[in-house]
Amino acid sequence: MQNFTVGPVQSNEAVRAIGYEQVPYFRTPEFSAVMLENEKLVKKFAKADDDARVVFITGSGTASMEATVMNVFTENDKVLIVNGGSFGHRFVQLCQIHGVPFTEIKIDSGKALTAEMLQPYESQDYTGFIVNVHETSTGVHYDIEMINDFCKRNSLFLVVDAISSFLADPFNMKALNVDVMITGSQKALACPPGISVIVLSPRAVNRVNKNSAKCMYFDLKSALKNGERGQTPFTPAVGILRQINARLKEIDEAGGVESEINKIAMVANDFREKIKDMPFEIVSESMSNAVTPLQPLNASAYDIFTILKDEYEIWVCPNGGELADKLFRVGHIGALTKDDNTKLVEAMKDMQRRGLL
Ligand SMILES: *Cc1c(COP(=O)(O)O)cnc(C)c1O
Repeated sequence: MQNFTVGPVQSNEAVRAIGYEQVPYFRTPEFSAVMLENEKLVKKFAKADDDARVVFITGSGTASMEATVMNVFTENDKVLIVNGGSFGHRFVQLCQIHGVPFTEIKIDSGKALTAEMLQPYESQDYTGFIVNVHETSTGVHYDIEMINDFCKRNSLFLVVDAISSFLADPFNMKALNVDVMITGSQKALACPPGISVIVLSPRAVNRVNKNSAKCMYFDLKSALKNGERGQTPFTPAVGILRQINARLKEIDEAGGVESEINKIAMVANDFREKIKDMPFEIVSESMSNAVTPLQPLNASAYDIFTILKDEYEIWVCPNGGELADKLFRVGHIGALTKDDNTKLVEAMKDMQRRGLL
């Protein structure tokens, strides 16, 4: 089985070997050291401020999206949400549920965010901005420099869901004035799902400490307090946190975040080159290195996904809803090589010969 989805993705041998081990008890100095090292390396790779903090939530990416909305915004805020697909829509739902006033900037599938789209919101009474820097559902990577300029000019608190982009695309939290960055264990970190990560700028830490979130499990104040000594308020997914530790150290030793991004970019570019003459259209105006969104010209996208899975033992990533028949995605994150791309392209060429593509 070969997995080209966008998460969970393939893990390397070292990460899988840890999954086989017994899970240790965690209220120990040894586990605290693992957690403090995880915090240090995530900050390093996100290029966060020295005084930034990192919280590890046991829960998938959405748990950290929700914890962020609940802890940094209140009914006295007014936020702009970029909604270009299902992950943007999720922030709209979260703000609705938690009573955070918002305006949604709706973007058509595959389209980039432009300065003209932001123009009407210039010099208004907004306090925050939320964006999925890579809208994974459509494979559009937004212009974060432009977003940073807009937020700086308008003094907006900037929350960036970089769940599928962290370690795959260049990102500099401090230089881009990002207040909160979110990621998850099952994307480019290439570990099992179950842990999501919130990086908080010093300004975000202040906001969390001033607000009183009405919840226990997602109370980031208590997570931050416990985190000072490398602990969590409740039993975390200890095994996954150990796998994350191995992965972060491996990336650090292999040349850091730049080498990891280069590796993923190399696999992505190789794939995009190999499919140049195939009956697909790339529909995204601006892509991440993490994913290539493909619109088949002669076949249903969902059928392609099913045939590759059932007849070739290869998983690409299907889309849901309106896009199910139109679009599928090929991921480049996780333990993948150019040879793996060749196998996928060969399978698709075989489908072409069989008249299925
Ligand atoms: C994967 C992903 C998420 C998180 O989804 P979960 O299923 O909750 O892990 C959130 N935002 C983006 C942009 C993603 O790619």
